[in-house]
Amino acid sequence: MRTSEPAGAWKYVRGFENLSLCDWPGRHCCILFLGGCNLRCPTCHNAVLAWDMHALPAVDPARIKTYLRDRAGWLDGVTITGGEPTATPYLAELLLEVRKCGLPVKLDTNGMRPDVVQELLELGLVDVFAVDVKGPYAAYPALTGHAVSEIAARANLERIFAMAEARPGAFYFRITRVPALTDGDIATARGYLPQNFTLTLQDYVPPKTHLPSRRKSEHAQPDHEERRPVGNVVN
Ligand code: SF4
Repeated sequence: MRTSEPAGAWKYVRGFENLSLCDWPGRHCCILFLGGCNLRCPTCHNAVLAWDMHALPAVDPARIKTYLRDRAGWLDGVTITGGEPTATPYLAELLLEVRKCGLPVKLDTNGMRPDVVQELLELGLVDVFAVDVKGPYAAYPALTGHAVSEIAARANLERIFAMAEARPGAFYFRITRVPALTDGDIATARGYLPQNFTLTLQDYVPPKTHLPSRRKSEHAQPDHEERRPVGNVVN
């Protein structure tokens, strides 16, 4: 039984899915869900995780580390998602520990913290970044709850695209067809990508309206606008 709260980035781990067959195309992976996000997308499917992570119990780091140590041979990778992982303090330390299992790491990001992405890339702590392009730059204020201006969206994503051009194997890009986006918007966003990159279109599933209970027995499996995790959640 855990006697103290996790330290560092581990206290942001508010969900763990031990096996996903669809999150990382072509791979069997486990998923760590980190609470907190720098955006306020009105279509967010992980709103509790993103904005009120303390409504969810922290996951015992020892159980995740044991799982990674014992099951690494059955997995092809580890996904780090959120919320927004690049907003997590001490993320590099958590990734260093995850890396000890020897598995490739994918990190999901909204791309609005390119400094962190660059640092993780240079440190070799992440193998693949799955970057969400929300839509046309001009739509970012509406799509992100006015957390990101058009100018900031352009500047941040252009830095991400430059990294992707330099390291094409380390990035892929996705967009979710939220109700506000037209086909023309999606085409506009697709046009931002560097040559030879594709923009994967993902269906939008409306968020649930209820908040999860704080009770451990009802520990939520955090949803995500890009993926709806199923399976076992360890806590
Ligand atoms: S959709 Fe993603 S980027 Fe937007 S608020 Fe939710 S977790 Fe953050």
